[in-house]
Amino acid sequence: MFRRFYPAEMAESSYDIDYEELYRKGYRGLIYDIDNTLVEHGADANAEVIELFRRLNKIGFRICLLSNNKAPRVRRFYRGARVKGVRLHYIFNAHKPARRNYLKAMVLMRTTKKNTLFIGDQIFTDVYGANRSGIRSILVKPINKAEEVQIVAKRKLERIILRFYRRDRWEKMNQLNVVLIGFAGAGKTSVGKVLAAEMGFDFIDTDRYIEEKVGMSIAEIFRTKGEEYFRDLETMALKGILKSRTHSVIAAGAGMPIRLKNQKMLRKLGTVVYLSGSEEEIIRRFSMRNPEEQPVLLSEKTDGERRELFLRWRFVYPTVAHRTVDIDDRTVEQVADAVRDAL
Ligand SMILES: [Mg+2]
Repeated sequence: MFRRFYPAEMAESSYDIDYEELYRKGYRGLIYDIDNTLVEHGADANAEVIELFRRLNKIGFRICLLSNNKAPRVRRFYRGARVKGVRLHYIFNAHKPARRNYLKAMVLMRTTKKNTLFIGDQIFTDVYGANRSGIRSILVKPINKAEEVQIVAKRKLERIILRFYRRDRWEKMNQLNVVLIGFAGAGKTSVGKVLAAEMGFDFIDTDRYIEEKVGMSIAEIFRTKGEEYFRDLETMALKGILKSRTHSVIAAGAGMPIRLKNQKMLRKLGTVVYLSGSEEEIIRRFSMRNPEEQPVLLSEKTDGERRELFLRWRFVYPTVAHRTVDIDDRTVEQVADAVRDAL
């Protein structure tokens, strides 16, 4: 429904794009928005921009600036950027998302719709205009987080569209589930619930899944059957989930990725994201947990033992995960956002 607003790709920033790879793929022309895409709103060309342009020219790209801003602002930026070794074109008052000036940019660069790429920070002007013009686009995060009021409102709409975009792209990639792994206290369950709600996915916590299947609490299983038995249940649960679940966010038990035979199944299940925290943060968080619900707290009795376990396990998680997301100093919502961005 929002397809006409979807970027072809997303990137963290204009400076964080694999341009060599784009050149290998056959792209020759790059059209850039200026404000919040290359520099902060209204800022002049800086060393970073010049360095980028120089590099792009060297790779073999032609460059055109395409800004809705007025002539003096765009000219000033252009003059600052056009130093020795940099060649580029510019268009001001572009009236994006109108198509006319996207086409003009390609005329200036002597490129075609097929080998031209647009890079910008806004959906309703930059990306939408590129789509209307038949050019692929990369949406980057705005450089300056604090923006004017009218942009802030637009950003809210952008977030809605990006939610649809991610879900569609998700299905296209045929990734069936999101699997969250990490130590006890990393926030797998709380982040997983938020994530599932936002993506319209089901949520499964493997500990709760096991409790339901077996009809015993984790604490009971540990006390009556022992840890080894619980680990076997985990592997069985994983097999069951693998057979029956798609479009789910799965919070995997902290010990699950440690077993070798679970690792392959976890990765088969979908995209595995490791919620990574510093030692202090993790220890602080999981010591506030209810021990009855936490296998790690049941098997390792003292703080020292738990710390030691964390130090051992934390080297395993990144080897199992497709992606890693930092949790330190972030709220549940912020971590959920970061996971979505990483997918
Ligand atoms: Mg912009």
